[in-house]
Amino acid sequence: MTRTLAAHDRVAKAVAKGKLTVPERCEKCNKKRFLEAHHEDYTKPLEVQWLCQSCHRKTHTVRKAVRDTMSTRRTGRGRRMKLLSTNRVAEILEVSPRTVAKWIRDGELKGVKMYPSKNWRVEEAELERFIASRRVSP
Ligand SMILES: [Zn+2]
Ligand SMILES: [Zn+2]
Repeated sequence: MTRTLAAHDRVAKAVAKGKLTVPERCEKCNKKRFLEAHHEDYTKPLEVQWLCQSCHRKTHTVRKAVRDTMSTRRTGRGRRMKLLSTNRVAEILEVSPRTVAKWIRDGELKGVKMYPSKNWRVEEAELERFIASRRVSP
């Protein structure tokens, strides 16, 4: 069994035995939905975050993007931090590119201005920080 499956198995058993309780609301968006167990660290199978499907999917999208960057860096192909276009950020956060532009203007999300195109880009690490900071308020 893979570590992922083993961790989920441990969670299912702990829930069945009443050692873990599934909350009513998603820990990120606070909506009352069907929740899935998310592991920050699979070596700690009982430390889970309960997320709705949509928040859970987003968490993994960002993580995968970050992982891809890391592997690019290791192979030495792109040494710079990966920058995401505002469209890509909008896609990940499921908002309109206009909203992303507004956040950058308001300084809520730190953008990097490109020259000479003057388009904004957002560092992946900054996007992760932004998502984490918005954990409570949807
Ligand atoms: Zn949620
Ligand atoms: Zn997960």
